[in-house]
Amino acid sequence: MFTNRCRFAAIILLALLVSLCLPLAVMAAGNGYAKKIVIFDTNIVNEPARQAIIHGAGGVIVKPLPLVDGVAVLLPEPAVAALTAHAGVIRVDDDIEIYATGKPSQPSQPPQPPQSLPWGIARVNAPTAWDISVGMGVKVAVLDTGIQLNHPDLAANIAGGYNATNPVRSPSDGNGHGTHVAGTIAAANNSIGVVGVAPQARLYAVKALGNSGLGTLSDVIEGLTWCIDNGIQVVNMSLGASTDNETFHNAIIKVYEAGITQVVAAGNNGGGYGSGTGAVDYPGAYPEVIAVSAIDSSNRFAVFSSAGPAVDLAAPGVNVLSTYIKSGYATMSGTSMATPHVTGVVALRLASHPGESPDQVKAVLQSTAVDLGLSTDQQGAGLVNAYAAVTAP
Ligand code: CA
Repeated sequence: MFTNRCRFAAIILLALLVSLCLPLAVMAAGNGYAKKIVIFDTNIVNEPARQAIIHGAGGVIVKPLPLVDGVAVLLPEPAVAALTAHAGVIRVDDDIEIYATGKPSQPSQPPQPPQSLPWGIARVNAPTAWDISVGMGVKVAVLDTGIQLNHPDLAANIAGGYNATNPVRSPSDGNGHGTHVAGTIAAANNSIGVVGVAPQARLYAVKALGNSGLGTLSDVIEGLTWCIDNGIQVVNMSLGASTDNETFHNAIIKVYEAGITQVVAAGNNGGGYGSGTGAVDYPGAYPEVIAVSAIDSSNRFAVFSSAGPAVDLAAPGVNVLSTYIKSGYATMSGTSMATPHVTGVVALRLASHPGESPDQVKAVLQSTAVDLGLSTDQQGAGLVNAYAAVTAP
């Protein structure tokens, strides 16, 4: 029951929300405002002082990013230089655009087909590993466009999630990319659809990309913060950006220091390493993650895959069948599709070797990988091998 006082308070709160939200909506349309992340020296400026500095520069706070001692803001373009020079401000970074690294697809629709084994699941030797580990209970986050939470071949393994793009909404997937990634990690081993590498892992949908497949660095950082706060053990990032960003790297280091293994797509900048194109995206290029390139069903290097010294492992990424939105299934290609094969193997490994650090997990997966005879820049240590990874000491 609302008392009059409660009703009054609610009206005031509503008015405040409207007054706070309207400028955001106007500014988000463009009009000379830039999306930035301001990093503070927390020894010099406290929380109220940080707000005052942003407001004094004519900016509006979008969300706090305590993981990196920063805040995401909308800032008038002319104010950036002065803010950068402000005492207590370490840096003003671009809140860069982050994109999903999958290719367009042709979805099929229900009714549910009988279960088939996608070629990539067999190629990484997952079925032979299931006698030893099915990834039981390992907490895997899919940082992506969300997941279709009630997909008939995923629902049994969906354990929770968070929507960093809009925290009051569920992390459901309006794109298909995240649902496809989730199925390769942990589609259920039942009578329908497909089966994932780790068919009893616990999936957490962390929506940091919009339904367009695009998102912002600040939402990715908020999603990573959620992973740390919720005891996630391995996070799949089938996403990237073409530019290096110090704030992004610092966030990745914090996740690494929290003991979470991060598996990241190398990117789809193919065209051949050494040609000036084809470099590994960020955060795939950072040393704290496992960066994954893509091969096809003939073990050839995928023409679209990024390559370079940052590549750690290769995995199946061409014509990959997995779950899709609207309770469907789809064949997709991309380093986005290769990455969850490795994430699934990490889950298999952690189920039988809980507590291994990101460096230990990476070392085991690399030492047990299969040499495909490709260059190190293309395959890293080689094709990930689930059976060898779970049976290694
Ligand atoms: Ca299935």
